[in-house]
Amino acid sequence: MIADNINIVSEKIAERCDNIGRKLSEITVVAVSKTNPLSAIREAFSAGLTNFGENKAQELRDKNSELELNVNWHFIGHLQTNKVKYVIEPSTLIHSVDSTKLADEINTRAELIGKVQNILLEVNTSGEVSKFGLQNEAEVIEITDYINTLKNVNLKGLMTMAPYTDDVNEIRKCFVGLRNLKDKLVKIGYNLSDLSMGMTNDYEIAIEEGSTILRIGSAIFGERNYKGK
Ligand SMILES: *Cc1c(COP(=O)(O)O)cnc(C)c1O
Repeated sequence: MIADNINIVSEKIAERCDNIGRKLSEITVVAVSKTNPLSAIREAFSAGLTNFGENKAQELRDKNSELELNVNWHFIGHLQTNKVKYVIEPSTLIHSVDSTKLADEINTRAELIGKVQNILLEVNTSGEVSKFGLQNEAEVIEITDYINTLKNVNLKGLMTMAPYTDDVNEIRKCFVGLRNLKDKLVKIGYNLSDLSMGMTNDYEIAIEEGSTILRIGSAIFGERNYKGK
């Protein structure tokens, strides 16, 4: 079942890339395994996926310690400073940095274990008050300048969540906003490459708008049995 889902998603991604002339190799699929058991992760791994995303710090820590497979973990949820210690060792990429305080704690913990932690900045492109993330370009530039002074944090790009809606234009506007922001920062000399955007509901739009990291949960693992974020 999971393998079938992965085939379907992979085909859709390949088709969309083909249609717009993007290389498939530019796109990483993060299988969002939150709330799903290790058996589901093993199944997805067997089907070829190696990147997995979790949004709760302890859940990522526990799954990492119980799983015998060598996977790349992505932390994609809101991260409290006091929980950085749970995710710092296993995380390949932390997608959701939105304050200098959090960046500081990541830097301190990464230094302790001799690691340079790759991160993304979460940007609120929808303006929804329920969403975390930096609110505007000025905030992004301010925190980027700060992070560039930290030795054990490496800023790779930006992440956003579009609103959950059927309104394709509204979704697309968020993704275009994130891409434009990245392009602008690159133009003025910042070194950013990744755009983490696109979920089950909207990953095909995200591909069209330049996403390099798709975070896909329910299209791979099936509907979650709670209304999680
Ligand atoms: C849960 C979650 C996803 C995946 O959601 P689906 O709609 O199941 O694909 C992606 N990104 C974040 C930040 C999430 O919390």
